[in-house]
Amino acid sequence: MRFDDFGQSDNIRNRRGEGGSSLGGAGLVGLFYLFRMVFSRFGIIGVVVLGAGLFFLSGTGLSPLGSNSSGSHEAATSEYDQLVGAVLLSTENVFNDVFQEEGLGDYPEPILNLFAGRITTRGCGGATSAVGPFYCPADSQVYIDTSFFDELSQRFGAPGDFAQAYVIAHEVGHHIQNVTGISDQVRSAQQRARGDAERNEYSVRLELMADCLAGVWAGRTQIQLEQGDIEEALRAAAAIGDDTLQRRSSGRVVPDSFTHGTSEQRQRWFATGYQARDMSACDTLNTDRL
Ligand SMILES: [Zn+2]
Repeated sequence: MRFDDFGQSDNIRNRRGEGGSSLGGAGLVGLFYLFRMVFSRFGIIGVVVLGAGLFFLSGTGLSPLGSNSSGSHEAATSEYDQLVGAVLLSTENVFNDVFQEEGLGDYPEPILNLFAGRITTRGCGGATSAVGPFYCPADSQVYIDTSFFDELSQRFGAPGDFAQAYVIAHEVGHHIQNVTGISDQVRSAQQRARGDAERNEYSVRLELMADCLAGVWAGRTQIQLEQGDIEEALRAAAAIGDDTLQRRSSGRVVPDSFTHGTSEQRQRWFATGYQARDMSACDTLNTDRL
């Protein structure tokens, strides 16, 4: 994928600094007690020495308060940021066109937040990187810790910029489901469902639709693709299929507990969207063959 000169979306928010100190508010409270303890044992001289010590440490970057997560990782993250900005811009271009063609009006572009470690979302509470990239329907925003891309490559064996692009486009797919009312429709169907297996099947259908929409994007993007790009996306889709993830973690596969679809399904729906270049090919809610 050649995205260097493609341009960047205006809808990226870099919120990596906010995770900031891993101690956060608790760190400040701890610091207060530390100063109080030092004052009671060593008096004002002790407090001055402690203050000077912390000031010195903050200059060296070792301070417990100054551990801003951006900074030391900047060189590694800047390439990811450029990729995220280019892919998001391309999804805006593609889905603006698609919405016009489908008579859906203007495409409401989502905000994409970059974070490191943890973040407080507007609509979905707090989250850590452990959950992976996600979309919050309540605030219509995408949240990505780009360290997931390292994990995708190293732990899941799906390296490459187009594997990463697929992940971004999948989250944008959830945004499209949200703004078109499909997410709400599925949520109320899930409330009427007769058990976990049926509820999970709805979830699988939503996830496979998001994969298909990612495929529609891949089929229409103006970003110049390179040899092997589609294979990278397919490898990523397979790597994060429920059956593969379950086999890795527990050694066995329990189909009723699937919430995202099998590796084969995820690959097939991505490919379906990619070939059709049309959202109508992605109606996973009304198909017999998932
Ligand atoms: Zn998803």
